[in-house]
Amino acid sequence: MNGKLKVALLVCFVAVLSTSLGAYSPKQPPSPPAPAASQQIPPPTVTMLADGVYHYFGFFTSSLVVISGGEVLITDTSNPLRAQSLKEEIAKLTDSPVTTIVLTHEHYDHVGGTGVFEDATVVCHRNCQPVFDLSSLGDVPTVDETFDDFMEVRVGDKVVELHYLGPGDGDATTVIYMPAEQIIVTADMYEPRALTHKNWVDDKNFTGTRRILNTISGWDIEHAINAHSPGTDPMDLHENVEYYNDLYDAVKAAVDEAMSQAGGSIFAAYGLFDTLPQTLELEKYRSWGEYDSSLPRHVERMLLAIYHGD
Ligand SMILES: [Zn+2]
Repeated sequence: MNGKLKVALLVCFVAVLSTSLGAYSPKQPPSPPAPAASQQIPPPTVTMLADGVYHYFGFFTSSLVVISGGEVLITDTSNPLRAQSLKEEIAKLTDSPVTTIVLTHEHYDHVGGTGVFEDATVVCHRNCQPVFDLSSLGDVPTVDETFDDFMEVRVGDKVVELHYLGPGDGDATTVIYMPAEQIIVTADMYEPRALTHKNWVDDKNFTGTRRILNTISGWDIEHAINAHSPGTDPMDLHENVEYYNDLYDAVKAAVDEAMSQAGGSIFAAYGLFDTLPQTLELEKYRSWGEYDSSLPRHVERMLLAIYHGD
């Protein structure tokens, strides 16, 4: 395993095992995973969601796999080791080569390993490249096609829509939707009955995430794939729409109250950064994972999103 691979795998670990790695600090990077840790990665699962449409879940990360007419579309290769596993699982389903890789967004724990599929066209929203140009790890994909607000990809007789609905987790947040099969794919937008861990929300636009979740919750959805959990129950998505709306309403009410006491000045809300994260509670979500550890950061991030121009 080369150094880059170790880093990519580590990012994958950290993104998902955030609870157990709660002590992680960028100033004190943890050691690369020991062999024993690698052995704890569960084997991948492949679940058929519709004819020719599969959900691969491996290395704690999801990929959509669409097979039709001699073509294969996949999402998020993540890192070379995972990409190889994905390739092996797809080979059990079809002889067709992977022809298209759609990246859900620009974050590095999702975009590595595209080179494992040498002939595939890599598609990423146009906001990916400026971030890739900043690469410190030097392991970014070559993007072959970009899009602005919407792109339709045909895989044999299947239609895969790519929607850009504004910033969410990162700036290139892409919602992938198969209207005929009513399957949706989002990445890092929500967790099932858990708050996204505080270490992973600094590049998340909270009002943007709320807007995207509210928009897509009105679509017909039978299966909702999210990035880092194996389930596809749309209820997880709908519950998180409520969470983001409740968080927004509570923080916005505090901002409005502070502004009303200061003649309508947004600067009155500045003091809330020192108090609101420590005082605001959302009792309805107390049983959710990461509630105690991450709610204060969520409040802070929502406050900033509102403060910066809701
Ligand atoms: Zn992300």
